[in-house]
Amino acid sequence: MKRILFIGIGIPLMLAALVGLVGLATTPPSAAIRTIFIADNIVTMADAGPSGERDQTINAVYVNDGVIRGLGALDDMRRLAGANADEIDLRPATLLPGLIEVHTHPIAAALLGATVDVSGFTHDSRESVMAALEYAAASFSPSPWLLAFGWDPVMIDDLEAPTLAELDEISPDRPMVILTQMMHDAYANSAALAAAAIDDDTVNPPGGEFVRDEDGRLTGTVREIAAIDRLLDAMPPAPAGAADLLLSLQYAKYARAGYTTLAVLGATGKQPKSIEMMAALAEDEHVPVRTVVYGLPEQLDAGNWKARSGNSRFTIRGVKFWMDGSPFAGGAAWAGPYENTPLTLERLHLGRDHRPELTHDEASFEREFARFHEAGFQVAVHAQGERAIDRVLDVAERVQARSPRPDARHRLEHNALITRAQLSRALELGVTPSFFIDHIRFYGHRLPEIVGAERTERYMPIATALALGHRATLHSDNPATPIAPMRVLQTAVSRKPRSADPGGGDVVIGAHERLTIEQALRAITIDAAWQLGLEATIGSLEVGKAADFTVVDRNPFDVTPEALTDLSVVSTWLDGQPVDTRPWRRANVALAWTALRSVLFEGED
Ligand SMILES: [Zn+2]
Repeated sequence: MKRILFIGIGIPLMLAALVGLVGLATTPPSAAIRTIFIADNIVTMADAGPSGERDQTINAVYVNDGVIRGLGALDDMRRLAGANADEIDLRPATLLPGLIEVHTHPIAAALLGATVDVSGFTHDSRESVMAALEYAAASFSPSPWLLAFGWDPVMIDDLEAPTLAELDEISPDRPMVILTQMMHDAYANSAALAAAAIDDDTVNPPGGEFVRDEDGRLTGTVREIAAIDRLLDAMPPAPAGAADLLLSLQYAKYARAGYTTLAVLGATGKQPKSIEMMAALAEDEHVPVRTVVYGLPEQLDAGNWKARSGNSRFTIRGVKFWMDGSPFAGGAAWAGPYENTPLTLERLHLGRDHRPELTHDEASFEREFARFHEAGFQVAVHAQGERAIDRVLDVAERVQARSPRPDARHRLEHNALITRAQLSRALELGVTPSFFIDHIRFYGHRLPEIVGAERTERYMPIATALALGHRATLHSDNPATPIAPMRVLQTAVSRKPRSADPGGGDVVIGAHERLTIEQALRAITIDAAWQLGLEATIGSLEVGKAADFTVVDRNPFDVTPEALTDLSVVSTWLDGQPVDTRPWRRANVALAWTALRSVLFEGED
């Protein structure tokens, strides 16, 4: 996938052109060392008090050297700060603790963000998707390959797979590859297949398939990562610095949306040095977000990374595994089979009574789990179906029995159909769940065709988790869904699918699993901080914690659930300083220059 980077070359070139105009001449925004922040609504999310967010006596926060030193009435804060403290008046906006995204993939998002968008977030018909591809194929681009991302036959009702003839007509000579939203399938034109030396006689790699028709001819459909990588490896390499620049720009997108901390759950993107790249970006004091990294095993091993190493802006926290796949690509290891419907059989091409294998066999997974557990890492495992969750819990129980580690906070990711009994068992084992709640919004209307009515009602059971005593969290798994924390809150509170059907907006999926706004906000602030092991420093507004703020134009406690997505983020603050989200901030200009040099003076770097 690193070859995708080449697509990003247009951005470095444009940015570099800005250097002489504005880049180095502008100074980043900054606040004084001693500052009082004033707001009508200050939502602390602190544990103290029955509902700290409604404490009307707090309308000022005193910050000294990036740390919260006091919260209370403005006069009290003025006395505490003494003479000459700056005052920043945020009224009429609302001050929240900096929001935390506990599960995302910024490198993949950065690289795929530079490709043609064919997703169900942007398009609602096959005609619209094909028009976007035709437009891109006809437009000028510095990249020799055309890459598209987001093909989604579940979200877009009439999206039949493209034929090889269709792809060749759109792009006869230039190699073209379309990645599906779930990234388990791809479609390639003849030029891309030829460039990757894939022909009718090519042997399928283990775990992957170049799909052929009845006559043994390639169809352009490529299944699973092992086969898709053969295509992507044929793409020309990207210039040095381009990936770093795209990632830096991606961080700013999270910050503009209101996030101040990201947990990277598997530094996917096949960059050989992804963790090192994130560590290097965090060296810049103006990096827009904190990053908490859960590396892939081979990445952690290759860099010899230690658990909890890093600094306040960059921490190595855990390791990431996948125990099953995506519900919408036939990969989720439910206890029972997938439903047999036109969607699963004809559109997703699953067999009857489809029941996928788990990704890891029990013995080798237990060895790896134990190795990272004993080295002090948090172990986070993607698990959607009950069978996948059982295997993770079985292994966690045995490893904890052999080498007890209190408060390890190993994580279960997504948890589409986790049962009440599994949640109870997880709680006993100290395993903490994070939920991919926006499956409800974007795929909810198709769930009955995938898992049936009964299982749809218990999909993403987060209220059950909270009732049992879990500190569960919510995530958006960007780029799997767009970055938008207020949308995450709204989905958790309403559990309404976005549907193309008129009146579909009144459907509620699993009404008993709806959260209050306070519960939902906890799941992306203080409980998210706890899940990352950072509750002592971030996640709520309390004396002694970092001054990480998200400023929104209205108080989320004072609007209807429907209006939550209308809230705008005014600004974000890290350690008491305004976050610099300008694309031409100094660090980006330097990266753009590196990229431009490696293109102009190829081979000299
Ligand atoms: Zn993920």
